[in-house]
Amino acid sequence: MGLKTVEGLTDFLRQCGGYAVIDGGLATELERHGADLNDPLWSAKCVISSPHLIRRVHLDYLEAGANIIISASYQATLQGFEAKGISKEEGEALLKRSVEIACEARNIYNDRAAKSSWDDLDNESNLKHKPILVAASVGSYGAYLADGSEYSGIYGDAIMVKTLKDFHRRRVQVLANSGADLIAFETTPNKMEAQAYAELLEEEVINIPAWFSFSSKDGTNVVSGDSVVECASIAESCKQVVGIGINCTPPRYIQGLIQSIRKATTGVAEEDFVSYVDKWCDAGASLVGGCCRTTPNTIRAISKLLSSKQVSQGLANIYVD
Ligand SMILES: [Zn+2]
Repeated sequence: MGLKTVEGLTDFLRQCGGYAVIDGGLATELERHGADLNDPLWSAKCVISSPHLIRRVHLDYLEAGANIIISASYQATLQGFEAKGISKEEGEALLKRSVEIACEARNIYNDRAAKSSWDDLDNESNLKHKPILVAASVGSYGAYLADGSEYSGIYGDAIMVKTLKDFHRRRVQVLANSGADLIAFETTPNKMEAQAYAELLEEEVINIPAWFSFSSKDGTNVVSGDSVVECASIAESCKQVVGIGINCTPPRYIQGLIQSIRKATTGVAEEDFVSYVDKWCDAGASLVGGCCRTTPNTIRAISKLLSSKQVSQGLANIYVD
């Protein structure tokens, strides 16, 4: 499944029935399966120590209804690997590996779906054939620093757009050639980093699309205090960007944030969480998934809710036609 263009995403969404489900939290699930994430590399550590656990969690999310799975590269940076004594070449191989693990999970899912459709057509637990995308995760500069600036967006006066571009450049190049369908820039904490991503995608002529996802603590601004509308405009101005969204943000703020982003453009994004999903879709979201502390159960509930929405929307479309 490729996704080379904005039209590619539109086709993908159509095949998904109008709304696509993104996976949920990775770190919590890895820990639940016994991984030890007490390390500055966080879930990236598992790419080295326990790739089978990452594959297991990706598969859990696919089985729970996800259409998009995000690689374990959020915290994986060449600079972070280097600090661990890992060479540039090995580091680049690990970045690629994080995406390959997600692709392997997709292959396993597809094989099982093909097999189960022959085994028993009426079985509820049957895996459905569905479109699946693999997104390569890119965390912010602050996520690499692991000093809290990931959640404040305050990098200090010495850090400029150029610093951030140089920091992200090689990782983005490697991930763009790893077999991923798109790049997911997640938990973007400020306008400057959005600008750096946008310039980098264009300068390096990155040939897969990207989405930018921002985090907010107040429902109006991203965590640094920059306006979410300005951040969304920067993303919108970059031709490789196919989605703009919100993650790592209290669910109660998301509807308003989607409406704000929608003004500049279109939006992405446990029972409590799921109760908001309908409103987010009504506000204009067509990609919905989970972030920290969400589980395959969250994603299962979202997937169920969105399928029922697809049915009623499908009927509405037929009626309109
Ligand atoms: Zn989060």
